[in-house]
Amino acid sequence: MLLIDNARVLDVRKGVIVENARILVNGKYIVDIGTSGSVDASKAVDVIDARGKLVMPGLIDAHMHLSGLRTGDVVKEPLLTSYETMVARAVKDLEALAEAGFTTIVDAGGLIALGLKQAVEEGTLKGPRIVAAGAPLSQTFGHGDTHYLPLDLVDVRSRLVMRPFGSLICDGVDECRKAARYALRMGSDFIKIFTTGGVLSQRDRPEYTQFTLEEIKAIVEEAKAAGRFVHAHAEGDKGIINALLGGVKVIAHADMIDDEGIRLAIEKNAVVVPTLAVSEHILTYGRELGLPDWALEKESFLFQYHVERARKAWRAGVKLATGTDFWGGVKAFRHGDNALEIVLFVEKIGMPPAEALKAATINAAEVAGLSHVTGSLEKGKLADLIIVDGNPLDNPRILLDKDRILFVMKEGKVLKNKLSSL
Ligand SMILES: [Zn+2]
Repeated sequence: MLLIDNARVLDVRKGVIVENARILVNGKYIVDIGTSGSVDASKAVDVIDARGKLVMPGLIDAHMHLSGLRTGDVVKEPLLTSYETMVARAVKDLEALAEAGFTTIVDAGGLIALGLKQAVEEGTLKGPRIVAAGAPLSQTFGHGDTHYLPLDLVDVRSRLVMRPFGSLICDGVDECRKAARYALRMGSDFIKIFTTGGVLSQRDRPEYTQFTLEEIKAIVEEAKAAGRFVHAHAEGDKGIINALLGGVKVIAHADMIDDEGIRLAIEKNAVVVPTLAVSEHILTYGRELGLPDWALEKESFLFQYHVERARKAWRAGVKLATGTDFWGGVKAFRHGDNALEIVLFVEKIGMPPAEALKAATINAAEVAGLSHVTGSLEKGKLADLIIVDGNPLDNPRILLDKDRILFVMKEGKVLKNKLSSL
C-alpha cells in the first residue's frame, strides 16, 4: 500500500481543491481518498509527502495520432521514412507524453498505436495507456483515402499498404459492415470513421459529406454489437448531423457544427472533441514546416469560425473533451505539448479552467470508453494521477511546463518522479 499524504487534491467533478487530503493506493487501484482524518493509513508501507503540491487525475488526450512524423510534410515524409524509424519515434513520443502527465491517449487512427498497445500494457515501453482505433473506415474519395496515392497503397487489406497509415476503404452498407468487422478483427478499441472531408485531404473539403446515413448506421450497429462505439471525423455541418443521427458517440473537430448539430449532440449525449491545437499549429507553423498549400488555404478560412462554433456548442451545454490531433513533431504538433488544448479551451473558448480540466479528464475518459476506471480520483478507480507544482485553476499554462509535472502514476506504477520524498 502506498499513501500520498498532505495533498491538495483537485476534485475535477466539482472543480474544487480539497486541502489536507490523502490518497491510499493498493496495487493498481485507489482504495481510499479523503481528508486526513477520514483515511486510515496504518497499512501504508510507502509514503509520498505531497505537501504544498496539487494532485489531480492523469491527463487524457482524447484525439491524437502516434504517427512518428516529425514535420508538417504529411505527403513526402511518410514516403521517405522507413516504418521502423517512425515506430522508434513514436516510442519516444510515448515517453514524452508520460513526462508531460498524460496517462491515457486516444489514438484516432493509424497502425502504430494499435501495434504498441501491448508493449505498453506489459511494461516493455514507458507511456500512457493506449486506446486505439487502428485502421479508420473511409469511403472511396473520403478523408482517409489518401487521394494522391494508388489505392493499393491506401487500404490496409492490401499487402502494399504504406504504413503507418492506411484505411479500410468501403462503400455501401455491406462493405461498411465488413470493414467495421475487419477493424475489430485487427483489435480496434473503437471504430473511427470520416463523415466529412477535411483540411489534410487533397481533393475534398471539410463541408463535403462522406458516407450515407445508412452506411453510418451499419457501422455503428457493428461497433455496438461488439460493445464498442464510433468516433467520427466530422467538420462540415451536414456530416456532423449525419454522424449524430447515425448514433456516433464522439464527434471530432466539429469546425462547422450548426445549431441543429448542437441540439442533436446534447440530445444524444455525444462528446465533441474540437481539436483546436492542431488547427492553431497549422496556421502558425504550417508553411514553415512544409504543409501542402491545399491544406493551408482551407485552414486559413476555418479557424476563427471553428473557435466560435466550439464556444457556442459549449455554452449551449454540449460536452467537450480535449484532444490535440497532434501527430508528433519537433517544433509543432509535438507530443508532450498536448496540454495546449486545455490552454486553448480557456483562452480561445473562454471556459473557466476548472471546466477545461474536467474536459481533459472526466470527459476525455468518456471518449476513451474508460469513464468507469479513470478520469477522476475516486475510490475504486485506477491510480492514474499526477502531482503538479502550482495550481492550474489559477493558471492552466503551468501544465505546459514539464518541469512542473513532478510525479506521474499510471495504474499504481510510477512513470515519473521528481519529488524529493520518494
Ligand atoms: Zn485526427
